[in-house]
Amino acid sequence: LEPMPHLRAQVVRGFGRGSKLLGFPTANMNVRWDFMETPEKLTPEERDVLDFARSCEPGIYYGWAQGSNGADSGVYKTAMSVGWNPTFPDVKAKTIEPWILHDYAEDFYDCELRLIVCGFVRPEAKFADFKDLIVAIREDGDFCRETLETAELAAIAKDLFFVSK
Ligand code: ADP
Ligand code: MG
Repeated sequence: LEPMPHLRAQVVRGFGRGSKLLGFPTANMNVRWDFMETPEKLTPEERDVLDFARSCEPGIYYGWAQGSNGADSGVYKTAMSVGWNPTFPDVKAKTIEPWILHDYAEDFYDCELRLIVCGFVRPEAKFADFKDLIVAIREDGDFCRETLETAELAAIAKDLFFVSK
């Protein structure tokens, strides 16, 4: 991905399935689909998120994320899903869902999340069985963790886009 998208959005509620059903929490980013016809009314940050959601290929991406979660405002490796959640047909909108590869002490709904999308892992896939989806997510997480170790990508965690506290 060149240039790498820099996204800022509020964390919103999804179906609560990520952690409970699958064991992988995803911090759903607020995509302002309600302003699709009038993007000029959005803030530049909201517009960037909407543009990314509309134009990117559905699939898994890796990057760096920072939640503004009380004491824990670290920048962490992230595996992110963008797409239609084809395994769950009740999801009607394309979602942006970073799984931050870090154990947080508490949830951070409504907080701002900053994310730099660094690269693409694989296209979105539909799984017949939850178990297959879980195996794939685990492999995606391992791949993202490893890939972000390379010097060039590790340096992006120090980007000034991430606020220091
Ligand atoms: P929802 O469907 O509401 O997104 P999830 O089961 O996907 O529910 O859980 C996501 C929520 O869990 C996030 O909004 C965030 O507040 C919290 N959370 C805790 N740890 C993480 C993490 N490592 N990555 C992403 N979200 C996390
Ligand atoms: Mg989620």
